[in-house]
Amino acid sequence: MKLFVVYIVYMVYIYRKLEIMTTFKFIEIKDCGHTSCPHCGAEGRYIYTWEMDGKVCSAMAGCYKALTGKLEKGEDVRYFELLAEKQAKNKPLNGWDKNIMRLQGFLAEGKYSAEWVNAKIAQVLSERKMFLAKKRW
Ligand SMILES: [Zn+2]
Repeated sequence: MKLFVVYIVYMVYIYRKLEIMTTFKFIEIKDCGHTSCPHCGAEGRYIYTWEMDGKVCSAMAGCYKALTGKLEKGEDVRYFELLAEKQAKNKPLNGWDKNIMRLQGFLAEGKYSAEWVNAKIAQVLSERKMFLAKKRW
């Protein structure tokens, strides 16, 4: 079984709805070759892993979307989901993606402080957001 692991910077989002707080962390997407969904048992290839209220869950894309699609994850988490998907499926990466991956590499190597790297990642994400907002005009 070919195992390709994509590690994503832990992002924590807290949302409030009817005074219920759910914490959500997107963790990774794994290309497991031929496998089955840990949630429903359907056959598939890509396994998503995330953490919800402190519980780590795994499922294939369809179940992941059904289970977490209603959460207000925020634009940053949606971006990291997209990036992990591109990496797992070997899709072409753009300049923002490469920049973020380089910064995540720094984080993994411990080359710079997590605080500095996370600030840089936030900066790249806000530049991307500004660029996309301008494009929409
Ligand atoms: Zn499933």
